[in-house]
Amino acid sequence: MSQVIVFTDLDDTLIQTRRKLPENASFSLGATDKEGLPLSFMTKSQETMLKIFSQSDAIIIPVTGRNTSALDRVAYAFNHYRVVSHGALVLQKNGDICTKWLEKVAHQFDAWKALMFSCNEEILSLIKDYQLNARSRVITDHDIDVYVSVKGEPEALTFIREHNTHGQHFTHHENAHNYALLPPYASKKKAVEHIHQMLNLGADHLIIGLGDSLSDLEFMTSCQFAMFPQHSQIKRSFPYA
Ligand SMILES: [Mg+2]
Repeated sequence: MSQVIVFTDLDDTLIQTRRKLPENASFSLGATDKEGLPLSFMTKSQETMLKIFSQSDAIIIPVTGRNTSALDRVAYAFNHYRVVSHGALVLQKNGDICTKWLEKVAHQFDAWKALMFSCNEEILSLIKDYQLNARSRVITDHDIDVYVSVKGEPEALTFIREHNTHGQHFTHHENAHNYALLPPYASKKKAVEHIHQMLNLGADHLIIGLGDSLSDLEFMTSCQFAMFPQHSQIKRSFPYA
């Protein structure tokens, strides 16, 4: 049997907040908030899928927009490579940043730090001037500035996207109440391809990608098979959905 490798997004793929749980679904704790209170949940079917993978001795690798401390609040204990902060950082088994990944991306950090902070300043001005229902901040992970995170009402996020002059420099993740402006090293696809190299993956492995957002498709389609949830931005984007 082939070694199975699963690259999986987390939020809205393997866990979700209470209001997004299917009606009558059984669930268990998925993740806590910063105060340690339950915030996200895993349905029985999501749990079963993970069990099927782990019973097949699959290597399960999270590929998430969460930074490391937010990933640490997820109940499932991932024990191999982890992709955090939208791909800006690849963590090794022991939790340290993969040094070979740093060799590829670290030279970009300083230039993009300045751009992220001026982008964030502009967005904060837009929020203040137009009294938008949103908040913005630069996310840091392992003391590295990794991306600009804007959260708020979808209309406010659309306004910010259309009026923020820095936006053109970044790639974007946008789904419902989340908008992230990503420097070039924050790429889930590049991070997944890096792990492909590190694990020397080839045609005889079974490589599966899971995600829910359109921004996940890039890394998912670099895997042999791709899976997405029934209720997802990917599904909604299909003309026959
Ligand atoms: Mg997601």
